Amino acid sequence: MRTTGSVTEVRELIAEARRAGSRVGVVPTMGALHRGHTSLIEAAVAGCDLVVVTLFVNGPQFNDPDDFLRYPRRLQDDLDTCRGKGVDVVFAPDEQTIYPPGGQTTVDVGHLGTLFEGQHRPGHFQGVATVVVKMLNITTPDTAFFGQKDFQQQLVIRQLCQDLHLPIDIVTCPTIRDDDGLALSSRNVLLAPEQRVIATSLSRVLRHAREQWQNGFNDLPALRQQLREQLESTPGLELDYATIVDANTLEETTADSDPLVALVAASVGNIRLIDNLLLNATSETA
Ligand code: AMP
Repeated sequence: MRTTGSVTEVRELIAEARRAGSRVGVVPTMGALHRGHTSLIEAAVAGCDLVVVTLFVNGPQFNDPDDFLRYPRRLQDDLDTCRGKGVDVVFAPDEQTIYPPGGQTTVDVGHLGTLFEGQHRPGHFQGVATVVVKMLNITTPDTAFFGQKDFQQQLVIRQLCQDLHLPIDIVTCPTIRDDDGLALSSRNVLLAPEQRVIATSLSRVLRHAREQWQNGFNDLPALRQQLREQLESTPGLELDYATIVDANTLEETTADSDPLVALVAASVGNIRLIDNLLLNATSETA
C-alpha cells in the first residue's frame, strides 16, 4: 500500500495503474475508520483493480467549529485498517494541499443542498461538494463509493456528477449498524454510555415507521407526525427533523409512490446524529 499526501504523486500512481488497464475506485472519507467505512472499501476492492481511500477532515463542511476540533483523528489506525483491507493507495493530504492559499472556487449544489442537513447546517453541502469534486478531480476514478448512512449527501453527489459532467459511477452502500441498531459513525465514540442508549431511539423509531408502512399503514402525514412525536418525546434527545420523503427528490410527497425514505437528525448532548431507512426496502440495514 502506498500512502501519500501529494497530489502529483497520487496522480502518478493512478495514471500508472490506468496505463496497465486498471479500473480505479475511490472511497472518500474523513478517517477514524469503522466498519461502515470498511464496507465501502470492501465494495471497492470487489469491483475495482486499484482502490484509493482518501483521508481528510474537511473543515469547510463543519458548520460548528467545536465539532471540527472534537472530530476523531487516527491516522495510524486508519492506515493499518486500509492495509488490512487491501487498499492500494491512501491519499491523506494536509489542509494546504486541498485548500492552497488564494483559492476562490466553491461548488454550490443548489436546491437539494438547501433541504434538511443543508438547512440545519448552513454551508455544509457546499463544503462537502467542494471537497468531493476536488478529490474526484485528483483521483479521476471510474467509480466512487458512498454510504447510505448520509442519504442526502449521496444524492447531492449524484446530482453534482450529473450537473458537472463528471463521468463517474456513484455506488451507494447500505448503512452498517451496531447490534443495538445505532448506525456506525465516527462521532459515536464521543457518546457517553447513557447517551448511546438514547441515540438508539433513532433507529428504533425508523424501524417502527417502516414496519407500519410495510404492514399497510399508508397515511403518510400521520406516519410523519408519529415519527416526529416519538422522537420529540424522547428524553435527552434534541430533534432537528424527522420526516418521510421521496427518496429521489427529498420532497415531502403525498403520493405513496416508491421509493420513500424516512430521514431523522437529532443531537444527544452536543453530538449530532443522523439516520435514515428506505421504507420499501426489506433489508435490515438499508
Ligand atoms: P465520513 O468519514 O463520515 O465522511 O464518511 C465517509 C463515507 O463513509 C461516507 O460515504 C459515509 O456515508 C460512509 N459511512 C459512514 N458511516 C457509515 C455507515 N455506518 N454505514 C455505511 N457507510 C457509512
